Amino acid sequence: MADEASNPELMDKLVSLCKRRGFVFPSSEIYGGFNGFWDYGPYGCRMKRAVEALWWKEMVETRDNIEGLDSTIIANPTIWKASGHIDQFSDLMTDCKTCKARHRVDQMDDPTTCPACGSKDLTEPKEFNLMMKTFVGPVFDDEHVAYLRAESCQPIFVDFHSVRVAARQKLPFGVAQVGKAFRNEINPRNFTFRSREFTQMEMEFFCDGDEGMKWFEYWKEQRINYYKKLGFSDDNMRIYVHEKLAHYAKAAIDIEVKFPFGWGELEGVHHRGTWDLSQHSKFSGEDLSYFDHDNHRTIMPTVIETSVGVDRTMLALLANAYDEDVAATKKEGQEEDVRVVLHLPALVAPIQVAFLPQSKKLSENAHALCKTFERYFRCEFDETGSIGKRYRRQDEIGTPYCVTFDFDSLNDNAVTVRDRDTMQQERVGITQLRDYLEGKIGF
Ligand code: ATP
Repeated sequence: MADEASNPELMDKLVSLCKRRGFVFPSSEIYGGFNGFWDYGPYGCRMKRAVEALWWKEMVETRDNIEGLDSTIIANPTIWKASGHIDQFSDLMTDCKTCKARHRVDQMDDPTTCPACGSKDLTEPKEFNLMMKTFVGPVFDDEHVAYLRAESCQPIFVDFHSVRVAARQKLPFGVAQVGKAFRNEINPRNFTFRSREFTQMEMEFFCDGDEGMKWFEYWKEQRINYYKKLGFSDDNMRIYVHEKLAHYAKAAIDIEVKFPFGWGELEGVHHRGTWDLSQHSKFSGEDLSYFDHDNHRTIMPTVIETSVGVDRTMLALLANAYDEDVAATKKEGQEEDVRVVLHLPALVAPIQVAFLPQSKKLSENAHALCKTFERYFRCEFDETGSIGKRYRRQDEIGTPYCVTFDFDSLNDNAVTVRDRDTMQQERVGITQLRDYLEGKIGF
């Protein structure tokens, strides 16, 4: 649904940049693509890994009470019965008999009219389950049906006891996972925003129900602050408070940001009560309750969840970063010359430092420097084209620092560091360069 924040032109530019510079391509493109599936190219997968690593550092590595998990995508199908996905994870869909387009009823401004062609000749809305099915074992019948996970969090609930015991954790503590999820979305759209295969970063925090709201507020604030550090502000981030809640939930918010098509959900923070562990206790027959030694009582832990998609994070970061700089580069009498620049935060930029020799005669020196630095930063060496062209190439993929090795470097053992955003250049001694860059590329 279009809203006041929508900027379709920006979406076209992003899709084209992502393809041209190797961030994101349509999957199976030479076969005509496959709707709702996307591949990350060389710069895209560098950025994706950086986004995942940053989340992991923030949510797991810098906290004493969050543990990691890496579970399978396919697991015992009863999990999805217990979670409610088999019976309830569905959307209402309708088909337009005139133009054959398929729509999700909850996304139509007017559910009696086709948004594609305006026809009123629509099929009765039908429930459409979003779980992707497969078969496990040699027989392809109903007994061997299994599902690709629709969210990465369910195995966290299922493994709750094993993780807690192995890690010797006491409440409150959390378990985090980064991994693929699959949904047979009726209408994949808006580039990678709504895909059929995507990556989630989820953290389930287990606590005493009496402290549930306190922890909900805590995680909400933590996550909002995280996005502020990544450059989102009151202008392009807002909180949507859910009024209609699932019967088991106590509170839920969405962190929404401005995407090129308008406002959209980036992350959900949910107070899920005791629903998840109770359901898995019931369906598995294993009691997942927790004995609280301090207060000598047994409780079913309450869950606070933070759940975000990697693909949506990347799209939001790219949209927020995209800029066209005309005035800065246009010289009198010249044709308009547009500098496309991604003002990506240095921590998630696919390349953090580019090493450029002033002349090919200096390639060996610049390349050796690049080799030394790639242990500390995501680096790239580029020797082709004029320095101006190379700066542009790096601006377009969001490289925050370009280091030029010139003829003077041979004598003064210093290089020129050019800042992507200010375009200022600074002479920095090679022995200070690592400290200099580390000071700039922090969170
Ligand atoms: P929506 O209402 O947009 O369908 P949702 O509320 O179903 O999303 P959740 O089930 O809460 O989403 O999933 C958690 C997060 O996973 C979302 O905030 C989003 O970042 C990501 N996500 C969910 N569905 C998709 C999808 N089809 N493609 C890409 N990312 C997704």
